[in-house]
Amino acid sequence: MTDPALSESLTAVRERLAAALHAAGRPDDDARLLAVSKTKPAAMIREAWRLGQREFGENYVQEALDKQAELADLDDIVWHFIGPLQSNKSRIVAEHFAWIHSVDRERLARRLDAQRPASLGPLNVCLQVNISDEASKSGISLAELPALAEAVHGLPNLRLRGLMAIPAPCADPDEQRRPFIRLREALESLRTRLPEAPLDTLSMGMSDDLEAAVMEGATLVRLGTAIFGARQRP
Ligand SMILES: *Cc1c(COP(=O)(O)O)cnc(C)c1O
Repeated sequence: MTDPALSESLTAVRERLAAALHAAGRPDDDARLLAVSKTKPAAMIREAWRLGQREFGENYVQEALDKQAELADLDDIVWHFIGPLQSNKSRIVAEHFAWIHSVDRERLARRLDAQRPASLGPLNVCLQVNISDEASKSGISLAELPALAEAVHGLPNLRLRGLMAIPAPCADPDEQRRPFIRLREALESLRTRLPEAPLDTLSMGMSDDLEAAVMEGATLVRLGTAIFGARQRP
């Protein structure tokens, strides 16, 4: 199967990321692309993989399991769980993903740690921060972040890699930067507090705010629509 539309949009997104890094005065390889494939069929993921994409983000555990089974032959694919996670589904993420970006409570972290199979090595964790102070969005508050980070850093089967945020949508590029500045500063202060933690990841920036996120130091941008097109269901 060849899909010229996917090939074109993936190329365009790579060019956008490269241009954003250049504009920010950052090296070409300073941020990588996470392709958010929720609601999209396994065949599209396989096609993106053929085009060189390796890291994919999923939001729904059962949907992700089905696609992982279909794509089991792609042994260098890296699965990231990026959606809200109910504690009773933590085992699926512990056993089937390399990363989770949405840890926002200690109870969830402890379950993931206990359920992570030793053979897979530690699960890479980003803590999701509620950066826009919106009651509706998930994520831990900045005030509660240090305690959660210390707890996660102490769990042997988790690797605390950094922070993730989903700011409230906003069209103005200067306004878009503000929550990303707060997330970057939060990561910087965690690095001071936990100097031994491998805190190298700022998971921020989506299809509509990639440039603002890269300007403020994003190392992993999560793009869905810009690569795979609009989604049918939320
Ligand atoms: C869906 C989703 C994305 C991708 O959003 P787009 O606007 O389609 O690029 C990124 N991050 C998270 C956490 C998501 O749920």
